[in-house]
Amino acid sequence: MSEVKKIAVIAGDGIGPEVVGEALKVMKKTEELFGYQFEFEHGLFGGIAIDEKGTPLPQETLEICKNADAVLLGAVGGPKWDNNSKELRPETGLLGIRKALGLFSNIRPANVFDCLKEASTLKPEVLEGTDLIVVRELTGGIYFGEKFRREGANGEEAVDTCVYNVQEVERIVRQAFEIAMTRSKRLASVDKANVLETSRLWREVVNRIAPEYPEVELEHVLVDNCAMQLLRRPSSFDVIVTENMFGDILSDEAAMLTGSIGMLSSASLGEGSFGLYEPVHGSAPDIAGQGISNPIATILSVALMFRLTFGYHEAAQVIEDAVKNVLDAGHRTGDIAVDKSTAIGTTAMGDLIVAAMTK
Ligand code: NAD
Repeated sequence: MSEVKKIAVIAGDGIGPEVVGEALKVMKKTEELFGYQFEFEHGLFGGIAIDEKGTPLPQETLEICKNADAVLLGAVGGPKWDNNSKELRPETGLLGIRKALGLFSNIRPANVFDCLKEASTLKPEVLEGTDLIVVRELTGGIYFGEKFRREGANGEEAVDTCVYNVQEVERIVRQAFEIAMTRSKRLASVDKANVLETSRLWREVVNRIAPEYPEVELEHVLVDNCAMQLLRRPSSFDVIVTENMFGDILSDEAAMLTGSIGMLSSASLGEGSFGLYEPVHGSAPDIAGQGISNPIATILSVALMFRLTFGYHEAAQVIEDAVKNVLDAGHRTGDIAVDKSTAIGTTAMGDLIVAAMTK
């Protein structure tokens, strides 16, 4: 028997509880198959926490997360809370939880399932074999630098400052090298070193760390070129590491290669193995409560948790293979179905994936 892993489960709002429910079934199946032991502790977060506790991120939920080995999050938000003041908005809880848990990187895989290639706006032959991860720095750079307005020679000006220190760059770059080591050992570091001083520092740090990972093939790519190459040769990328704003843009671009938001998983990592795992999509209020949401993004977030936090690579592969086999067999939720009349529901999709999981 393996040691007990504590998982904080934060279902949130809208379709959050539906998709998280299916992901928990998948985790329980891995207990059966691999003898893992998970202890689930549930916490309120987002709109439901505002309603029940008067705050999007109650202290007790934060404690549950801090005591856990990993967090599984559904999604938060919805029209009910859209007009609330800033402190009483579900999204404020999202920023708060990342900060409180010291999560400084965001990991977004984009892999194209062969049977869903048609869902992308790109030609299938361009997408062939695309399986990449964007590692984005999450807590530094221009989004967090000093911002102000001032009177300039030609009237009002606005200033946003971009600051990175060596330690901030080192920790994310090391994380990206480590992730590359578990994959096909190729790392693209993306910057704008021909123009920006923060990028020149970034590149220096990457070059200094690279000799620690001699097996990893490193390339430096300018961000504008990377944006083009992602559309021209997406399959040539394995791990992409970059600063906050470039990562924000490139991870959305990479996500669109796959064609469906219901398929995209993500992780936010801090020091050590702790991580928060969640689908990229939001709470989808337009379809919440109908039992038709796609649980695959959340299920694949569990596979990501297994790889990045627990090193359960075999079980992660079993989950990913099960998803692939179910899709290959033609089963689709509404968001990825060409013929919507044949679409199956959230629970049916979860059940099929669980049934397809074999060692
Ligand atoms: P969304 O991702 O919730 O939905 C966009 C569209 O994609 C909708 O048509 C929705 O039905 C569809 N969709 C999303 N996930 C799906 C799934 N798993 N299966 C099938 N279809 C799916 O984005 P939005 O509509 O812009 O935002 C809705 C709410 O979610 C807002 O309150 C927003 O603030 C919040 N949000 C939360 C997060 C988060 O919790 N991390 C992220 C993004 C948005």
